[in-house]
Amino acid sequence: MVDWTPPNREYDFLFNEVFSMTERLQKLGFEGFDEESIAMMIESWGNHAREVWLPINEVGDKEGLGFEGGKITMPDAFKDAYRKGVKEGWFGTSCKPEHGGMGAPLLFQSVPWSEYGTSTCMALSVFPALSAGVYEVITEHAEDDITDTYAPLLASGEWAGTMCLTEPHAGTDLGMIKTKAMPNEDGSYSITGTKIYITAGEHDMADNILHLVLAKVPGGPSGTKGISLFLVPKLLNSDWSGGRPSMNTGSLSDSINGVSCSGTEEKMGIHASPTCVMNFEDSIGWLVGPVHGGMPLMFQMMNRERLATGMMGLGLSEIAYQNALSWCKDRRQGRDLRGVRDPNEEADSILVHPDVRRMLLECKVNNEGCRALASWTGILLDEMNSEDKETADRAEALIALLTPIIKAHFTDIGCENVDTCMQVMGGAGYCSEYGVEQFYRDVRISKIWEGTNGIQALDLAGRKITQDFGKNLRHLLWPMTDFIEENRKNAEMAEFNKPLHQGVKGLQQLTLLMISSGMANPNFLASGATDYCRYFGNVLIGYMWARIASVCLEKKNDTFYEAKLASARFFFQRIYPETFGLAARIQSGPKPLMEYPTEMF
Ligand SMILES: Cc1cc2nc3c(=O)[nH]c(=O)nc-3n(C[C@H](O)[C@H](O)[C@H](O)COP(=O)(O)OP(=O)(O)OC[C@H]3O[C@@H](n4cnc5c(N)ncnc54)[C@H](O)[C@@H]3O)c2cc1C
Repeated sequence: MVDWTPPNREYDFLFNEVFSMTERLQKLGFEGFDEESIAMMIESWGNHAREVWLPINEVGDKEGLGFEGGKITMPDAFKDAYRKGVKEGWFGTSCKPEHGGMGAPLLFQSVPWSEYGTSTCMALSVFPALSAGVYEVITEHAEDDITDTYAPLLASGEWAGTMCLTEPHAGTDLGMIKTKAMPNEDGSYSITGTKIYITAGEHDMADNILHLVLAKVPGGPSGTKGISLFLVPKLLNSDWSGGRPSMNTGSLSDSINGVSCSGTEEKMGIHASPTCVMNFEDSIGWLVGPVHGGMPLMFQMMNRERLATGMMGLGLSEIAYQNALSWCKDRRQGRDLRGVRDPNEEADSILVHPDVRRMLLECKVNNEGCRALASWTGILLDEMNSEDKETADRAEALIALLTPIIKAHFTDIGCENVDTCMQVMGGAGYCSEYGVEQFYRDVRISKIWEGTNGIQALDLAGRKITQDFGKNLRHLLWPMTDFIEENRKNAEMAEFNKPLHQGVKGLQQLTLLMISSGMANPNFLASGATDYCRYFGNVLIGYMWARIASVCLEKKNDTFYEAKLASARFFFQRIYPETFGLAARIQSGPKPLMEYPTEMF
């Protein structure tokens, strides 16, 4: 039987003892969100996720979706859980109060909300995550009457959102999309084309679905520069009084807006998340942002979703770890190599075996490190909206740099951890009873969607490190080198500070190598990108563990802090050393890949 305890204490520690979040939130004007109220929100959300979401996770996996006559039917348990979320206001926590939202910091929604949601029911969590992304794009870029009409419906969750990018022949390479948008006299556009793999493209949990669709208006430049963004509702009701006047004229259908779902994919995991083929036939839509200027706006939504995807790696890894640990605690096999531990039992607990401890600790320590980095990043989303230009610029530069790392590193590690959790449970991990088998299938998509991890690595190495003459990187390296310098003379910190210093120096050298060799031969950069991204992720998590250690060294004689110090040691001794092997792989350059004869594959 699957269980899960929300790691509230972890967030309390990170937010208040490591990163002083409350002070930073107060500076940003979140007066109502002090230490106590944030802790209460996290706790209440954890209770809701445990009581309402967790019990339906297996139901969704087993029952899946109904599909008939172009309509997708969600499991009843999902509809109930969704309605409860709407009623209790859990879907619009970061939406503005004028739209009916809670006005909570993005930190809450992007980090603990996302982690708990994906831990307890990843298939359900994608619905509000997509709606939040659509909300953000339209409130920032759509014209006022569109925002006024749609934003409250998205904020409450009564209506849901999607992002429609992928087409049969255009996945990573979106410049090739064929969906067309023809301007109408009333200012609307008629959208025609087919999109595939659209998450939550059709379902019966919300009254209406708002699709954000990428399409090309004829006459624009080729490639991604000719792409525009449109808001296309599934339904246009003539008795619905909002929106543009033209939406309510007799020429528009009373019901379906030419939007139909012609199929849903059979897939490995997240069985209760519809993955739809969506057809748009002269569907009425409204331009969001400038004509031919849709890609940067869609990237804004994708960046939010990429951070949310990173949290899927962490969320699934955490619930898998908790269940694997609880199973291991009860399992007895073999004897302690140093001598029998429990003579009254036929065998000792498997926790006496070094290899079992290795597996569990890799998962635990990776999870805690990722959670720290997620928290450190989450507040930057709020700081991007700061009225203080310097704070906002710094946050924007860091988010640009950190987004591909969090997406790729957290999901790579998340998939590895869930795999390890299955391994540590032996045959029980492979069978369904304990849930890890489902988590293994569910988490796997996180490395693929929102841009594959290979593409994230290319974005980091090919764009983000050189953007604005290295401004993003400077904003990261300065605080890290300051921290290393401040702790140089602290003997107790040496075991954490020295390897961190070595990693940061290596990162600087590798970055220079990637840029200089990449200019002469772009394949150098492309062949090292994935290893560079992992190297970068390890150094960042090392920075988090060193910061955690510096806090915990001040607070001895308490198991919580002692465990954190032991985790930091485990990280630097057992996980971090892979970083230096990655450097050797990067330095080997493109030859071993590109000179391998293609015909011999
Ligand atoms: C369950 C599911 C849900 C999804 N939900 C949505 C959704 O809601 N909305 C939406 O629009 N899309 C969605 N997608 C699509 C998803 O984002 C794409 O599958 C993903 O971006 C990869 O595109 P692709 O499948 O076409 O692979 P391809 O682009 O064909 O890539 C194949 C391989 O080639 C690599 N590759 C491609 N180009 C390059 C390059 N230039 N350099 C190096 N390597 C490269 C890729 O990394 C990958 O390994 C979903 C997909 C799935 C499976």
